[in-house]
Amino acid sequence: MIYADYNSTSLLDEEVKTYLTKRINEGIFSNPSSLHALGRHQKYIIENCRKVCAKSLGASPNQVIFTSGATESIAMIFNQFSQEKKEIISSEIEHNAVLENLKLLKKQGCNISYFDTHENGVVDLRKLKTQKIIDLACLMAVNNETGVIQSYLEFAKTCHSLNILSFVDLTQLIGKQKFVFESSNIDFACLSGHKLGALPGIGILLIKNPLELNSLIRGGKQEHGLRAGTENYIGIESLAIVMNNLDSLMKKYSNLENVTIEFEKKLKEKIPNIKIFGDESERVSGTTLFSIPGLMSQAIQIELESNGIFVSTSAACSDNEPETSHVLRAMNIDDKYGRGVIRLSLPPDENEYNQILEKIVSIYLKLSKIGNFFDNREIKL
Ligand code: PLP
Repeated sequence: MIYADYNSTSLLDEEVKTYLTKRINEGIFSNPSSLHALGRHQKYIIENCRKVCAKSLGASPNQVIFTSGATESIAMIFNQFSQEKKEIISSEIEHNAVLENLKLLKKQGCNISYFDTHENGVVDLRKLKTQKIIDLACLMAVNNETGVIQSYLEFAKTCHSLNILSFVDLTQLIGKQKFVFESSNIDFACLSGHKLGALPGIGILLIKNPLELNSLIRGGKQEHGLRAGTENYIGIESLAIVMNNLDSLMKKYSNLENVTIEFEKKLKEKIPNIKIFGDESERVSGTTLFSIPGLMSQAIQIELESNGIFVSTSAACSDNEPETSHVLRAMNIDDKYGRGVIRLSLPPDENEYNQILEKIVSIYLKLSKIGNFFDNREIKL
């Protein structure tokens, strides 16, 4: 099996796997809010994990709030702005976890505007300086489909200088590139553990000034009263393990850079009409989003899967017709390309690129021959 869908979820980290097996076999699960020794010990472990995560992210422990993942962290941030007539600006290539909250805030009376996106996948931030009032500006550091890295540090610096609160979605950046919260000028940021080899269902909300946060989930006083509910301490422990090894993960992704470039070069040589999205922009290594005009993504995906290669099609399917994703639409990509998209997102220590290349090329030759077209030709009876 070749699992090439790391941007959706990473396979479980080996150290986490060993740790969890031992941990579950020991079978000691205790509520961190209990006052007895077992509860106190669990609480102590959580606080140690918080310190580990904070250190890896260049934050102080009180700025780290454990949540169930990026989606919840994002909801917590936007919850601060509901009921108020706030001016919020964001990009159109954000994850749906952001875009759906923006739709809700719009219904609640906020004014939502969007940055433009260039065809190379880079968000144009000029509106930050030209729009009169902005309360919150929101930008993802790395796009999950294209892997294009945005100028999120420049974005946060500009926001800071203009007195605008900034939110950066770090979900696809952490583990691939170094990040230091303290020097970033960012007010709010989020990430998800399962993108890094930790368990699903655990994530972090980073907040510059935790005292200013209203909780979204009400109940007990967990997470210093900011996020009620018994902590997902097994998830937290798994996250601390991967966070502790973040430098070695980043080194692996950095070593993957030339391999990805070489792979894409060969793809273009073998399939001259292939389009690789964002290939002229700065991208994280391991992510390749491509389309071959005339070939449907589902057909390529099924062929790859039958050869044991698991990839993702970024295009959503409606009425059996693949639709160009919102990200590619924002980049002004024609449906001719947008409907046939395949995303490869490789593990950091990838060495299966040659096998993937060989399969894609043979699938291309096979499907091109049988004319797997969706060029809207009318069938004349
Ligand atoms: N933001 C980005 C950029 C993502 O890629 C994802 C997940 O794919 C999310 C947010 C949401 O993460 P989760 O589903 O772990 O909450």
